[in-house]
Amino acid sequence: MKIADVRTHLLEHRLEVPFQSASMRFDRRQHVLVEVICDDGTIGWGECLGPAVPNAAVVASYRSWLIGQDPLETEKIWATLYNALRDQGQRGLTVTALSGIDVALWDIKGKRFGVPVSTLLGGRFRDSVRAYATGSFKRDGVDRVEDNAREMAEHKEAGFHAAKVKIGFDVAEDLEVIKAVRDVMGQDMRLMIDANHGYDVVDAVRLGSRAADYGVDWFEEPVVPEQLAAYGEVRNRQPIPVAGGETWHTRWGFSEPLSRRLVDIAQPDICGVGGLSEAKKIADIAALYGVRLVPHVWGTGVQIAAALQFIAAMVPSPVRPNPVEPILEFDRTHNPFRQAVLSTPLDHERGVVAIPDGPGLGIEINRDALRDFALRERS
Ligand SMILES: [Mg+2]
Repeated sequence: MKIADVRTHLLEHRLEVPFQSASMRFDRRQHVLVEVICDDGTIGWGECLGPAVPNAAVVASYRSWLIGQDPLETEKIWATLYNALRDQGQRGLTVTALSGIDVALWDIKGKRFGVPVSTLLGGRFRDSVRAYATGSFKRDGVDRVEDNAREMAEHKEAGFHAAKVKIGFDVAEDLEVIKAVRDVMGQDMRLMIDANHGYDVVDAVRLGSRAADYGVDWFEEPVVPEQLAAYGEVRNRQPIPVAGGETWHTRWGFSEPLSRRLVDIAQPDICGVGGLSEAKKIADIAALYGVRLVPHVWGTGVQIAAALQFIAAMVPSPVRPNPVEPILEFDRTHNPFRQAVLSTPLDHERGVVAIPDGPGLGIEINRDALRDFALRERS
């Protein structure tokens, strides 16, 4: 079995109502899927976190190293690709592109052996996972507090046990949002806040100190990801547990935050951190230092499927009678191709998502959707 070809599929939907986090504005949804084709006809699918067009360009640059390789040799291929661009590419697009390829190779491995990826990762500890709703971005032309409260009522009605709201814009207004959504959700639902590194330490400490009264599970990306010392400051100077890691790449990127316990919850993204091969290592390091892990998820059904397989194989704590169960980040913002790329959508049922048990990632790709949502203009 050899790799015969590697392709990318760029997907796009232009949004009627743009939205923004504290660090990024979205007027369109763009994602890129990776298709690895083997000489026996087996096909594996992956996805890269981050900007679709540059990711596709890096995937294309890896292609010549991949053709003719044995797709089962995932560690060997990972090391080869990483080393190929290592001197100028220890993090960023080189790693997010590599992630999409690695996920596709695991899909192929599962199909080769007729088992789900979670089995190959070591075993399925669970067949379903509770999801938490991600949304509450700042949308153009609407009152942010009212909009967030309305959206939270929808999450509650849909049965989610937890939801996350976007902050990091303005401390006073962010506190109004947090109060409004807590009023809507009541005391039983879990609430998380995500600043998308919109604050500095001063504002993060100010916000966290006051938001703690509303019962917040975690405070995500309070400050820019490069400032590890600032993470430590925020963690030490306000009471809400700190989460982060969606832009930290590889085991080396996570080494210092985990070993110094600069976060309480690590959030590697399977399709960004270096794929399933690397996420497994990071989970082991997080367990070594007693840091909780909740994968970051932002993409199509392919990325959700990869996260589900990973979550299925997450090892429960052996020292607690009631181990902390992993949860799945579940994007509720508008993206018509998120589930359309799959023949069978990975939807939730009252806030719980079943983990596919078919070979590989356990999904089938709907090629009609790849055509319908194909990116037409690279603008
Ligand atoms: Mg986030």
